[in-house]
Amino acid sequence: MTCDLVTDPPLDCPVCPRLVDFRTGLQREHPDWFNAPVPTFQGDNPRLLVIGLAPGMRGANRTGRPFTGDYAGDLLYETLIEFNFAKGQYQARPDDGLMLTGAMITNAVRCLPPENKPTGAEIKACRPYLMATLDANPQVRAVLALGRIAHDTFLTALNLRKALFPFAHGSRHDLGTRNLLMFDSYHCSRYNTNTGRLTSEMFKSVFTSIRTDLPEA
Ligand code: SF4
Repeated sequence: MTCDLVTDPPLDCPVCPRLVDFRTGLQREHPDWFNAPVPTFQGDNPRLLVIGLAPGMRGANRTGRPFTGDYAGDLLYETLIEFNFAKGQYQARPDDGLMLTGAMITNAVRCLPPENKPTGAEIKACRPYLMATLDANPQVRAVLALGRIAHDTFLTALNLRKALFPFAHGSRHDLGTRNLLMFDSYHCSRYNTNTGRLTSEMFKSVFTSIRTDLPEA
């Protein structure tokens, strides 16, 4: 699909000074890492948009592909493959040949934030890229928000009231616009799985719900 919308920021995006400082420091420290805003990963004709929080330091920030190279990716890609939203073998590298099938993955904030905590201003600054990604893919019917920040920033991007669509793991929201459904999950981070906040079964049950609304073609 060709599109005039800028869906991915430039690799030297200067908008968020704190994140630029962090990025340039890591570029000096780890010149072999990606260390730049991480572009969306997508397959053909995506109907599912997965939104994470931000790149992980040794995951997407290192490899340049969302959720690739750290624990969160292990659980996400294993589950995407199981539910036929991806095919191939996930080997934690961008050149592993894994392909998304009817899905795309992006982050609410494209640059790595210190301690995985973006500020409100940084979330706001990066929101136009999330909106442009959605605008460029009007065929998307379901959004999976991984965590409250992804959930909230997506609602804000669509000018929807958060009070009408409260975040809760396993929730399904009919957004009443653009023919979109939103599904909520706790983020598939190592912290959440180690603490038992999110189990593999809980994560899979969200995908079972998504597949009810997005049956395989
Ligand atoms: S977080 Fe987004 S807006 Fe901010 S510097 Fe990175 S790419 Fe640019």
